[in-house]
Amino acid sequence: MSHSSAHHLFHPSNTDAWATSMLTGVAHLSRHLRKVEGPSNGTAPELAAKLVADVDLDRPLGETGAALEEMSRLYLDDAVWFHEPGYAAHLNCPVVIPALIAELFVSSVNSSLDTFDQSIGGTFIERHLVDWTAGRIGFPETTADGIFTSGGTQSNLQALHLARGRVERHGLGRLRIFASADGHFSVQKAARLLGLGDDAVVCIPTDERHRMRPDLLRVAMEACLAQDGVPMAVVATAGTTDFGSIDPLDEVAALCHEHDTWFHVDAAYGGGLLASTRRRHLLEGIERADSVTVDYHKTWFQPVSASAVIVRDTAALRHITWHADYLNPKDAAHPNQVDKSMQTTRRFDALKLWMTLRIMGPDLIGDYFDTVIDLAAQVHDAMVRCADIELAAEPTLSTLVFRYRPLGLDQTLVDGLNTRIRAGLFDNGKSMIASTKVGGEVWLKFTLLNPIATAGDILDIVDQIRCCGAELLVGAAR
Ligand SMILES: *Cc1c(COP(=O)(O)O)cnc(C)c1O
Repeated sequence: MSHSSAHHLFHPSNTDAWATSMLTGVAHLSRHLRKVEGPSNGTAPELAAKLVADVDLDRPLGETGAALEEMSRLYLDDAVWFHEPGYAAHLNCPVVIPALIAELFVSSVNSSLDTFDQSIGGTFIERHLVDWTAGRIGFPETTADGIFTSGGTQSNLQALHLARGRVERHGLGRLRIFASADGHFSVQKAARLLGLGDDAVVCIPTDERHRMRPDLLRVAMEACLAQDGVPMAVVATAGTTDFGSIDPLDEVAALCHEHDTWFHVDAAYGGGLLASTRRRHLLEGIERADSVTVDYHKTWFQPVSASAVIVRDTAALRHITWHADYLNPKDAAHPNQVDKSMQTTRRFDALKLWMTLRIMGPDLIGDYFDTVIDLAAQVHDAMVRCADIELAAEPTLSTLVFRYRPLGLDQTLVDGLNTRIRAGLFDNGKSMIASTKVGGEVWLKFTLLNPIATAGDILDIVDQIRCCGAELLVGAAR
């Protein structure tokens, strides 16, 4: 290949072109960022789809500036911005700059963390972070292990795969997983992928704070045994997606111990408490787990993807190990991370957390999370005083579940009204909120993960909700 057509490759001879390109990208994003005025602009799917479909991929623009302009129209102009205080929908965080500098290296150097001979120091950086996280959990230093994954869904799948490996000799049809009714749907998905079927997940009812009821867990586990089932795993959630509730970890641990059952803690959301200087105690009992899911891309303010599954005992990871002669032979002299992973080629996402910890330190990350938990409590206290707002529960972490319900409003209208309020806010683009169902009814949800947002910002969204709701009611009465 001629040298001129190779000038797109990352290569020492192209360093100037590379740097110019990167700086053009940075300048473009900086200009755009300064113009952002809300979390989204409410673009309809038909319009977004058409803009993209009209692009002829066989006719390149050939030039960075033009491609960036086009990308802005197709993507940035109607992207959803998680750093905006009006964004309060899902578990998306604004990201920290130290992680973004790491991204530059992750992608440019392009290490793959499957084998030592593709990563060298990367292997040990990832291992050090796994050990550090395991230390924060309180796992025994001599046996703890784990691996970075693409997200909580994959971490939960891998943890349940390890749990299955322990008991699969009893026959897959007999295996049961117990999770709270407020647990994450990735548990059901994992059961399906593991060949256990949809009936394999037994949902345990929750208390008024949406925590798994250990008394009912005991009943369910004993019923399972009485019906010749095998309790394969209990998944306790440390931070449910809707309510941020933390299941009673100590009591669940004791039941797992009693029944020789794998204890998995899904701390995809609550895992950030491992860095908190004020609220680490909320996770008490997590150290008794067999495996833990931590999503750094939620409450550790990391860019997607960054997650890990951490295990108490490295021996459990044998269930995921497969040796290939060309990659990670059984007698390999070097440490190969692929031995512990579902993935083969794998991004060096760990470097983002590494740079974050080396530049900011863990306490500051924990402070960010504590700040949004404080914010949720403050907003909750202001919202209880609103006669037309109903709250579903007190917050544990940084979510609030509520609905607009003016006094005297016919109950049959509440669901539809709240659904339309959420859509109205999305169309308007000034703020974005989520919705969920509680007891079959529609509720609205704030997920607060922006440490820069103030109570004033969030109460402003509440005002928008009431305005929108009142307008809809007037419109309906007309
Ligand atoms: C977000 C979440 C997951 C899934 O994690 P992803 O990173 O989105 O795959 C699992 N469990 C809980 C409790 C979550 O909040």
